[in-house]
Amino acid sequence: MKLNRQRVFQICHFQLLAWIALLLGLGCSSQLARQLVNVNIFSDEEEVKLGREFADKIETKLQFHTDPIITAYINELGQRLVSHSKRQNINYHFKVVNAEEVNAFAIPGGYVYVNLGLIRFADTEAELAGVIAHEVGHVVGKHGMKQLTKQYGLAALAQLLLGKDPGRLEELATQVVTSGFLLKYSREAEREADLLATEEMHSAGINPAGMANFFERLLSAEKRQPTKVEQLISTHPGTRERITNVRQQIQQLPTKSYDPEISTRFQLIKRRLP
Ligand SMILES: [Zn+2]
Repeated sequence: MKLNRQRVFQICHFQLLAWIALLLGLGCSSQLARQLVNVNIFSDEEEVKLGREFADKIETKLQFHTDPIITAYINELGQRLVSHSKRQNINYHFKVVNAEEVNAFAIPGGYVYVNLGLIRFADTEAELAGVIAHEVGHVVGKHGMKQLTKQYGLAALAQLLLGKDPGRLEELATQVVTSGFLLKYSREAEREADLLATEEMHSAGINPAGMANFFERLLSAEKRQPTKVEQLISTHPGTRERITNVRQQIQQLPTKSYDPEISTRFQLIKRRLP
């Protein structure tokens, strides 16, 4: 009985969405449409549903690293950060991608992908946690849903949510995997993800300076190994400004003693890398 009611509610909600989409498509002014781009009108259930379908498509295009010790480590590090985040009412999934580019990305609904190349590049656990915390920050800020709304409009997104445009979802999945195109968030969103990440790390007992250190090493690697870091750099412009912002934010945090930056487990993981 309870399930049925939930189902009816969901259907009504989707119908409402479709109506909003239709109205927007038909006659709303572009000014109103612009005001709506930073508003997320979708429920957590809708985001999770879309995220799951999106993840299914993306995951057919990726190769995953299967070492259970490495995958468990990344999942635990991710879940630890999530448990100190501002959005804990959805499930998060962390997966290790068998790719050597220094990169990680998140899609709506709590799906976070960490490349093997990122784990290899990270000098300390705090650096690795910094990038993962930043991606969690994008999920917390619901940046993926906002970005999709901005890029495709409410009408197209409502169609996706209703499962009426599987072709477009497939196309989006290809874009994410090949160029990270969808994941080029606004500077505002990047700033918010960094801010949330700094708070998550501090609260979890992981030194947030690791994130700023990572950015600095990323900048110097851009000169030495541009192809390895270009995807992360191109989807995350303004690195200098981000370093300054993170360092300023850290100064405002209360003093705390953090975990050692290189844990025994981190060293073990580094040695296990293929
Ligand atoms: Zn980002």
